[in-house]
Amino acid sequence: ALQVIYAITPTYNRPVQKAELTRLANTFCQVPRFHWIVVEDSSVRTELVARFLSRSGMPYTHLNIFTPRRFKRTGMPRATEQRNTALSWLRSHRSRKDVGVVFFADDDNTYSLELFEEMRSTRGVSVWPVGLVSGRRYERPIVEKGKVVGWYTGWRPDRPFAIDMAGFAVNLQVVLGSPRALFKRRGSQPGMQESDFLKQITKVGDLEPKANNCTRVLVWHTRTEKVNLGNEPKHRQDSMVIEV
Ligand code: UDP
Ligand code: MN
Repeated sequence: ALQVIYAITPTYNRPVQKAELTRLANTFCQVPRFHWIVVEDSSVRTELVARFLSRSGMPYTHLNIFTPRRFKRTGMPRATEQRNTALSWLRSHRSRKDVGVVFFADDDNTYSLELFEEMRSTRGVSVWPVGLVSGRRYERPIVEKGKVVGWYTGWRPDRPFAIDMAGFAVNLQVVLGSPRALFKRRGSQPGMQESDFLKQITKVGDLEPKANNCTRVLVWHTRTEKVNLGNEPKHRQDSMVIEV
């Protein structure tokens, strides 16, 4: 049977949240054998996300964990606790019998359907290029004779794994077999989350290049503009309360 793709999406409440989740669901619902793990950065599972997921018709798990206020400053890594909560869920709800691939799918990126076909065959840890990141049109692992030998990137090529969160996938058995591998807050420098995590589970020489030896961009690190709500009325004017 095809390996199940477990996509881990941290998400938080803001004006564009439902629009972002809609774009994602429209992509993900077309992927066979797909399980969406949505982790809200919130002290509760919100009605908006709960209703959205149940209407999406796809297999999902809805989790939540609130990021402590002291970690919500600029320059600090985002969604560390949410990704770790999803990893813990997998470790307690999946076992050696389950075949799958784990992928970190932020809610604002853009995903080609082909990306999921590429990552489906991940045996250990696989990697591929990411578009629109690091101050360049793309970032990519450099591959020679089928092995990753370096990184084409516009930002800190000295990182052990100079790769974005959207640029790799991990076999479920690797996640279960390294039960202590987590994203770090303590001792982690900004932008080192991916390297700090991957160091715990693999070596550069063992990475599996996908997307035609890392020569095709199938995922884009798009970012959504902050919405202008400057004309919102101070007091409710519409006769109804409408979810957006
Ligand atoms: N995120 C979150 N809480 C926050 C900020 C972001 O859960 O306070 C989520 C966000 O929804 C996204 C991921 O963390 O899925 C990465 O955040 P963002 O896209 O803002 O980061 P960037 O693109 O700047 O790396
Ligand atoms: Mn983003």
